[in-house]
Amino acid sequence: MRLRVLGTAAGGGLPQWNCACRGCSRARAAGPAVWRSQECLAVSASPDAWYLVNASPDVRTQILATPGLAPPGGTRHSPLRGVLLTDGELDHTAGLLALREGAALDLFAPAAVTAALTEDFPLRSLLAPYGAARWRPVAGELRLDDGRLRVTAIPVSDKRPRYAAGSTRPGPWVVAYRFDDAVTGAAAVYAPSLARWPEELDAALSGVGCVILDGTFWSEDEMERVTGHGPGARAMGHLPIGGVGGTLGRLRGRTGIRCLYTHLNNTNPAADPASRERSVLADALVEVASDGQDIRL
Ligand SMILES: [Zn+2]
Repeated sequence: MRLRVLGTAAGGGLPQWNCACRGCSRARAAGPAVWRSQECLAVSASPDAWYLVNASPDVRTQILATPGLAPPGGTRHSPLRGVLLTDGELDHTAGLLALREGAALDLFAPAAVTAALTEDFPLRSLLAPYGAARWRPVAGELRLDDGRLRVTAIPVSDKRPRYAAGSTRPGPWVVAYRFDDAVTGAAAVYAPSLARWPEELDAALSGVGCVILDGTFWSEDEMERVTGHGPGARAMGHLPIGGVGGTLGRLRGRTGIRCLYTHLNNTNPAADPASRERSVLADALVEVASDGQDIRL
């Protein structure tokens, strides 16, 4: 199985266009080599069948930067077969508008998210005239790539996107995914939005070679300290990395699993490789994913 990390920032990216906080200023000064595009992953068990997890507003640039996702010479046939949505957030779905050029993609989402993308942010009807996108529910185990790639959704929260904040639809609204290669036995978990740590997530980590987790915030009150306003990390749908109940405590001691953080907000000090927080992660043998990273399992 192969994981290509296409983007590693939370909504807005790093640097964010309208922000000059410490992290954004550092990134702007250092130049594009250290910039982070908005979170997106590509996964595949065989070279001609790739699936995206989430479609960020940066998806066109991300696909163009990834040789394995280019159409073979002389064809107009992408190896991209579909997109799995973890939730309905704008920074995870707006990229679908950039994938409308006739590709027959399978789009997988939890039922509440598909309903929100039909009624509240009507992507479904906007895209319908452009191509043959097939919307598929995410429930139980999915078998993709002719059965080779098994995908299991793990409900992780009922955090609604802001545009559907008043929705009374039952969840799950946010899921993580476990991927299993039915041929090699390789497995990985991808959880870029994690408002709580359910028991099902611990079970899903059993036997995986790699986990890529929500690294939006280092601390609970980070938004308020850096920007002067904003709710806490948990209220925004993200368990912080550090502090009491943070996800780093859940990762320590998991020998045999390669652990990485993604979806970093521009306020997160761990985005800076020279930060104290990054050495805390290094001591715990936990990595921060980078744009373009190639992980083979
Ligand atoms: Zn900033």
